[in-house]
Amino acid sequence: MNKKSYYDVLGVSKTATQEEITKAYRSLVKKHHPDRFEDAKKKEAEDRFKEISEAYTVLKDQNKRTQYDHGGDEFGGFDSSQFQQGSSFFNGMDDIFSSFFGGGQKQSTNQAGRDLSFDLEITLEQAYHGHQTKVKIPKLAKCEKCKGVGSMEPPVKCNQCQGKGTLHVRHGFFHVEQACSNCNGTGKTIKVKCRFCAGNGRVKKDKEISITIPQGIENGQEIRLVGEGDEGVSRSGDLYIRIRIAKHKEFTRVKSDLYCSVNISPVQAVNSSEIQISSIDKKMINIKIPEGIQSETKLRVATHGMVIGRSKGNLYVRVVVQTPSKKTMTAEEINLWSALDKISNQSNKTETKTSSFENIKNMFNKWTS
Ligand SMILES: [Zn+2]
Ligand SMILES: [Zn+2]
Repeated sequence: MNKKSYYDVLGVSKTATQEEITKAYRSLVKKHHPDRFEDAKKKEAEDRFKEISEAYTVLKDQNKRTQYDHGGDEFGGFDSSQFQQGSSFFNGMDDIFSSFFGGGQKQSTNQAGRDLSFDLEITLEQAYHGHQTKVKIPKLAKCEKCKGVGSMEPPVKCNQCQGKGTLHVRHGFFHVEQACSNCNGTGKTIKVKCRFCAGNGRVKKDKEISITIPQGIENGQEIRLVGEGDEGVSRSGDLYIRIRIAKHKEFTRVKSDLYCSVNISPVQAVNSSEIQISSIDKKMINIKIPEGIQSETKLRVATHGMVIGRSKGNLYVRVVVQTPSKKTMTAEEINLWSALDKISNQSNKTETKTSSFENIKNMFNKWTS
């Protein structure tokens, strides 16, 4: 059977972020909540609702999502039967209830640590070469005093849920299995709380983390460090390092290409000339300026752009012809410009434009020799 992909169910793209998925899910849930429909339509709404919850249960969990992505839209390599009935569906519902009935903080039986994200600014040179760095991330880490148990004594069975970690609650229309609030779904409680972590088992700490930034990374790209998020009961969350590339004073980047500007004088523009510029990796490159170049012409210098894997981008040099100012000219220069003005006026009357250009060129040559 051709089943709709979970991405289609939620109306998001395959590359959607967790926030986009949650946003899409919440708005769909509001729209399709069975309580909003008459009895005749309720069954249909319930099915749709169930479909949305099923998709969300998978896509909100990075592990399940990865597994699902590998299995394809048909859900080949993944056992979807667990979502048709039983607890997984109700875990999804649990989430719905917390968003609808103000259930407070979501407590699930597999308490995974929170994912964290961190913005890291690097220079364009660092992006060009690739970069190794260390950052200090404030995160929840295991309390070393109690080894994460939250107590100096062994925990005891929770008497509210009899150690199951879950409770059955009736919410009007639904029966919901919820995490036990007394033990946070762990099934165990502690008698004397560890005084270092107040029974949490975790403490806020700065952890130094090494980060390898691959060569050619783009602005806004994320590096995922599995298990480097907050410490959790069942597993730690992940850490996402979002890369920001600082504005460069010479180069602008567009994907794998780099752009820069260079100023030349009218003399250099009229005659063919050669100039030197420094590339992003501090190499001196010779650039031939063709005779009679117009201002704003872009010259392409192959392979001096960014390096991404095996491919190398181009460097585009925008050539700007700078008009000199009389304020900074010598008297001789001012005279020469006036003489030039006369010559070009005469040749405009009598000759073609090409020879006018030749005249100006000769004039410049006399001037610079
Ligand atoms: Zn502790
Ligand atoms: Zn309990």
